[in-house]
Amino acid sequence: KSWRPNRSVPVNASTEASSKHNHPLKVPNLIGGKFVDSQACAIIDVINPATQEVVSQVPLTTYEEFKAAVSAAKQAFPSWRNTPVTTRQRIMFKLQELIRRDIDKLAMNITIEQGKTLNGAKGDVLRGLEVVEHACGMATLQMGEFVPNASNGIDTYCIREPLGVCAGICPFNFPAMISLWMFPIAITCGNTFILKPSEKNPGASMILTALATEAGLPDGVLNVVHGTNEIVNHICDEDDIKAISFVGSNTAGMHIYARAAARGKRVQSNMGAKNHAIIMPDASMDATLDALVVAGFGAAGQRCMALSTAVFVGGSMPWEEELVERAKELKVNAGTEAGADLGPVISKEAKDQICRLVQSGVESGARLVLDGRNIVVPGYEQGNFVGPTILCDVTTSMECYKEELFGPVLLCMQADSLEEAVTIVNRNKYGNGVSIFTTSGVAARKFQNEVEAGLVGINVPVPIPLPFSSFNGSKASFAGDLNFCGKAGVQFYTQIKTVAQQWKDLPSRRVSLPVPPTS
Ligand code: NAD
Repeated sequence: KSWRPNRSVPVNASTEASSKHNHPLKVPNLIGGKFVDSQACAIIDVINPATQEVVSQVPLTTYEEFKAAVSAAKQAFPSWRNTPVTTRQRIMFKLQELIRRDIDKLAMNITIEQGKTLNGAKGDVLRGLEVVEHACGMATLQMGEFVPNASNGIDTYCIREPLGVCAGICPFNFPAMISLWMFPIAITCGNTFILKPSEKNPGASMILTALATEAGLPDGVLNVVHGTNEIVNHICDEDDIKAISFVGSNTAGMHIYARAAARGKRVQSNMGAKNHAIIMPDASMDATLDALVVAGFGAAGQRCMALSTAVFVGGSMPWEEELVERAKELKVNAGTEAGADLGPVISKEAKDQICRLVQSGVESGARLVLDGRNIVVPGYEQGNFVGPTILCDVTTSMECYKEELFGPVLLCMQADSLEEAVTIVNRNKYGNGVSIFTTSGVAARKFQNEVEAGLVGINVPVPIPLPFSSFNGSKASFAGDLNFCGKAGVQFYTQIKTVAQQWKDLPSRRVSLPVPPTS
């Protein structure tokens, strides 16, 4: 292959990148099994958010190149769908081995392009790796159903078949995990795939697709194109693409959902979130404070499952002081630095938006008990850092509450009762994740029954499921009806064919054709 990940993607340090060579590395397309440079004139710089160095340059893949990727995927489909599922699984077995081999390389690339700490970056890879492991059991996951003698001499059975060419469009915040939510399941089901990584950090997807090629994936089964709105619109409009997996913001997700559905495609669209934690007065203080700090500020708050809003039943006063103390202990630094707890946010624009929303909260009457907006990290003065920030006395009418913040900011609210707290959560438009902290089973059970969100934690801060369960965003956090991973993930990438077979002598004298046949 013309492109090797350890040559073209900087993996050791940002010094390997453009600033040293004066030639930013060009991120190639992957079309028909070959890593090929795009002929595009338009490119986007991939920026290290801790240093502002240009790590690489991602092309806006041209329409002709996109069509070539679709054609390669379409051509590869007939033979790939007829490849035994055990052979397809074996490639996944090999892929998970290669991901383990290169996990440090992947993590370093994620830290440099996305900003999260090396530990966080390894977690990003490991959560995706679990999906590859899950795909290794596809023969069982894709198994059909059989009813013998459904009618006299007639058996019926259902088989799950792949759809054809599928596509995946990724966000910036989990560059490895989210690519791996998509293509391993899709291709092990027998589909071929076109991946469109985030233009902000394509490196992890490039390394992973190179590893999939090394694992033995035939040419054309997995392809990569790059760009932003235009390429996404081409994906939505392309008749040869049968299904689209999307993860990202509501603006993009709803646009893709509507545009692709209008072309008759399946879409699963995981979108924004505003995840609440309800803290009951009887909650274990120590464990709950730790959980709030981890889930509120971990990954610089750039997790779709971050707990960004804490609703304290009975008031936040007993909690505030200690919460601030623990948040202050977190070390904000470049993700490559030892001991860093949180790195920068993805871009200058993201930082500006976070700071603006915090300021709007202050101006609407919220109390800023910890302000991380002006943090300066020695040695990384240009980085997009925001330190842990806590706003108290937030109300549901404030802009900082209504908008997704996606930064290391924890909003604190109050409620008089569990009922009131659940009402606050349920009135929020999003329905991704929610957690309760309590020592009361009765409160936990009531919460679990009444709360409206797809992923529910009981004394668990980030209740993200393992891949044998689905990632069940709901309400405005999801569009479609088959979520990522779990049984739904396999159902999304397959369609059912129901077969009725009769192997008996057909009647010779009198023909009767009841529907369905009853004898
Ligand atoms: P984004 O929507 O800006 O970008 C996601 C993808 O969509 C990118 O590949 C981008 O090129 C493309 N895109 C962006 N705007 C587009 C447009 N107008 N038309 C067509 N394509 C467009 O999202 P992001 O900033 O990369 O990611 C952060 C968002 O993703 C947050 O809202 C976060 O909550 C969400 N997210 C959700 C989940 C989940 O599972 N629910 C997981 C991770 C991230």
